[in-house]
Amino acid sequence: MNLQNSLNFSGGPGALPENVLLQLSEEIMKVPGLGISILGISHRSEWFAEVISELEGNIRTLLDLSDNYHVLFLQGGATQQFSMVPMTLLRGKSAAAEYIQTGYWSSKAIPEAKLEGPVRIIWSGVETNFKRLPTDDELRFSPDAPYMHYISNETVEGLQFQRVLGRDDVPRICDMSSDFLSKPYDFERFSLIYAHAQKNIGPSGITVIVVRDDLIEHTPPANLPSFLDYKIQAKAHSNFNTPPVFAIYAVLLVTRWLMNDIGGLKRMEQINRRKAELLYGQIDESGGFYQGRANTADRSLMNVVFNLPTTELERRFIDAAQSAGFSGLAGHRAIGGLRASIYNAVTIKAVEELANFMESFQRKFHG
Ligand code: PLP
Repeated sequence: MNLQNSLNFSGGPGALPENVLLQLSEEIMKVPGLGISILGISHRSEWFAEVISELEGNIRTLLDLSDNYHVLFLQGGATQQFSMVPMTLLRGKSAAAEYIQTGYWSSKAIPEAKLEGPVRIIWSGVETNFKRLPTDDELRFSPDAPYMHYISNETVEGLQFQRVLGRDDVPRICDMSSDFLSKPYDFERFSLIYAHAQKNIGPSGITVIVVRDDLIEHTPPANLPSFLDYKIQAKAHSNFNTPPVFAIYAVLLVTRWLMNDIGGLKRMEQINRRKAELLYGQIDESGGFYQGRANTADRSLMNVVFNLPTTELERRFIDAAQSAGFSGLAGHRAIGGLRASIYNAVTIKAVEELANFMESFQRKFHG
């Protein structure tokens, strides 16, 4: 097997830009100007303080955020945020937090919130097998909820909201793990956004949290462990205990790439749209050989989830793809099938190669 980095369509950890990988591989041996490996640099060094400060600044610039937001880099993945959000905002409350159940990952977030307080599921896609997202008419938000939580892109099922949900007078919390920094958004309409790095912006081990001052400043103390207290983490500038220095540095390099090589989120979105069009086009023009899973209007620009007529053909597709250098095309273990994740670092050229591969596979097995 000879898999290629440029043909990595994994659901996450996913592909990273080639020049970022090159720079990291050099700096594992020696950071220029310092002489030692990046893996051995102290998190209390001046060098790392500059890394955090530049990265915070880059995220602010990319998101066009004002000063009343904190940008934090925490460990524990998005899963820890499933708990940290309700620990902070729901503990001791009698009004229910509102959750939208759109797929595998929102179904994981809900039970964690229920451990902390009352939860109302305002819409669930369980009965439609998570093949579509709710319309506005199906969503009734309450003005009394302590917060409303949803996932902007369901990574497993390949469903993505193309609009911002909820009321402006209720804190809006969003798990953007699988579409963060893939397109511009009205980020300031959110009170708290979290996104782990291992899709669009870096390796696993770090989660970006963007949180508005008022959400954490006015929260009554809830006897939280210090590590799980946003206020303490914000004060420590993400350096409360030993952070994953390497992962944070990798994210810094990716933000530089986004700003300098790509040219910002608007341009990133254009590229991502083109990639999605190529794959969905291939699916739609296959005469039913490739079957897209998601309702057309709710299709994700990040995770293209599809099936073949039989599981045997799907197995052959994955084997043939691997022999051709592609990786990460098997669907999530919860639902099977196939999934091409086309995160930011996957190039248009790589997606064209996949579309061509799909076409020739179809010709071979279907005529
Ligand atoms: N939320 C979303 C949208 C995800 O895609 C994932 C994992 O892929 C998670 C949460 C869980 O993330 P983690 O493994 O970082 O805890």
